[in-house]
Amino acid sequence: MKINSSKISALIKKQIENFNLNIEADDVGNVVTVGDGVALVYGLDKAMLGELVLFPHDIYGMVMNLEEDNVGCVLLGSDTEIKEGDIVKRTHSVVEVPVGDNLLGRVVNALGHPLDGLGEIKSNKSRPIERIAPGVMYRKSVDTPLQTGIKAIDTMIPIGRGQRELIIGDRQTGKTAIAIDTIINQKDQDVLCIYVAIGQKNSTVANIVDKLRKHDALKYTVVVSATASELAPLLYIAPYAGMAMAEEWLEQGKDVLIVFDDLSKHAVAYRTLSLLLKRPSGREAYPGDVFYLHSRLLERACKLNDEHGGGSITALPIIETQAGDISAYIPTNVISITDGQIFLITDYFNAGQRPAVDSGFSVSRVGSAAQIKAMKQVASSLKIELANYRELLSFAQFGSDLDKDTKDVLNHGAVLMEVLKQGQYDPYPVERQIIEMFAAKNRYLESIDLEQIRPCLDGLYSYISSSYKEILDEIVTQKIISKQLEEKMHLAIKQYFETR
Ligand code: ATP
Ligand code: MG
Repeated sequence: MKINSSKISALIKKQIENFNLNIEADDVGNVVTVGDGVALVYGLDKAMLGELVLFPHDIYGMVMNLEEDNVGCVLLGSDTEIKEGDIVKRTHSVVEVPVGDNLLGRVVNALGHPLDGLGEIKSNKSRPIERIAPGVMYRKSVDTPLQTGIKAIDTMIPIGRGQRELIIGDRQTGKTAIAIDTIINQKDQDVLCIYVAIGQKNSTVANIVDKLRKHDALKYTVVVSATASELAPLLYIAPYAGMAMAEEWLEQGKDVLIVFDDLSKHAVAYRTLSLLLKRPSGREAYPGDVFYLHSRLLERACKLNDEHGGGSITALPIIETQAGDISAYIPTNVISITDGQIFLITDYFNAGQRPAVDSGFSVSRVGSAAQIKAMKQVASSLKIELANYRELLSFAQFGSDLDKDTKDVLNHGAVLMEVLKQGQYDPYPVERQIIEMFAAKNRYLESIDLEQIRPCLDGLYSYISSSYKEILDEIVTQKIISKQLEEKMHLAIKQYFETR
C-alpha cells in the first residue's frame, strides 16, 4: 500500500482543527510536597478557596491556602499513597454534604457518608457546607421555648428555639448528658436533632447512638461523627456539615436542634491544620481567625421570621474548660458569640448535685422571652434564692448559733438544691417541673428530710396525675397559673400530704 503523505497531513490538520481541549492548563497541577495530611500543589492557579481537588487513588483534598505559586490543600483521605509529582485535578465544586429527611436515624461522617452499615443514603440533594448566615431582615427574636426537660435549666436558664446556648465545664461534669437529655426530650415536639461529635472516642459515640435508639430518639436525629481517630480536616468540617443539614430543614420552616460536642476539640483540629499549612500562629498557638471559625458557624443558628418560613436552628455548642477556667482563650470567644451559657462545676458533680449546673455563672440572655408564663410564676425567684443560700452557706460555716431567718434561708436553699437534682435520661415535661417548683416555692417541702424529698415529689406527681389530671392539662393548655388553678394546686398538694 502506498502512503500518500499529503492525505495524511490533511487528516492530521483536520484532527487538529476539531481538537477541543476540555481541560484547561489551570485545572491540573502537580504535587510539590506532601505529608501530615497536607499537600502543596503547583499549577492550580485558578483554584477557589475551599474547592475540592482530586488526587490519585480517588482521594479528595480541600484547598485551604492560596499562595502566589502554589496552593495548600488538606487531604480528606490517607496521604500515604500520594507522591511528589502526582497529578491533581480541580473539581470546580466546594465541599458538599447530602441533606434531607433520608438522613434521619443515620450515623454519617463529616462528608455525609454512612458509618452505620445501613446502606447508602438515598438523598437527591446536597448543600455546600459553608454558607453566609441569614441577615437581620430574615430574623425575629425567639418566642417559643425549647424545653430541655432538665429542671435546673428550664426553670433558671430557659432556652428558646433559635437561641445559641453554650454548655461549658471541665471534663466529666455531665456536659454531653445535658445535650443528649435535651435531644431525648424533643420526642413529639416537632424538633429535628443533629448531634455532631467532634474528636470524641468511637466508643463514646457508639454509646450515645445506642442510648438515643433505646429512648426512641434516633428516628428524629442525625449523628455526624468525626472521632479522634479521623483526620484533622474531617474534624474541622464536621460542624459546618451538620449546620448545612440543619439549614435544609430550616428553609422548610422546621425547627432544628444541633449539638456540637465539642468545639474545644474543633478549635484544636483547626489549629493543627493551620500549623501544618504554616499559617502564622497567635495566642495559645491558635491562628488569628479562630474567633471567626466559631462565629461564622454559630451565627447560622437563628429564628427566621414568618415571611421566611418561621423555621429555627437552636445550637448547643459544648466547650471543655481546664480546671474551671472560663477565661481561657477559646471559652471566652465562644461565650461572647453565644446567647448565654450553662456552667457545670466539678465540685457540685462530685458532691452528687447532678446536673451540676452553677446557677450563678449560668445565664440565658434571650430565652426568658420564650419561657411560658406558668413557669415564670413559680421559678422567677429561684436564682436569687439560691444566690442567697450560697452566700449564707459560706458564712454559716463559721458560726453555730444562727438566727431563725438565716436558718430558713439555708433550709430552703438546701431543699431547692435537692429539688433540682435529676437523673440522666429522665427529662421531665414542663407541667411536672411546674408542680415541683410550686411545691418548693410554697414551702411544702421545708419539714421533710432531704433524702425523702425526691420520693415525696415523685409521689406527688403521680398523685396529681391520677386524681387531679385537670391541673396538668390546664397548665399545658393555658400556660398560666390562674387564681383558681393556684387554689386547686394548693388543695391537691395538701391532700397529698394528708394521705401520705
Ligand atoms: P467528657 O468531658 O468526657 O465529654 P462530659 O462532661 O460530657 O464528659 P458526661 O459524659 O455527660 O460528661 O457525664 C459524665 C458521667 O456522669 C457519665 O458517666 C454520666 O453517666 C454521668 N452523669 C451525667 N449526668 C448525670 C446525672 N444527671 N445523674 C447521674 N449521672 C450523670
Ligand atoms: Mg462529653
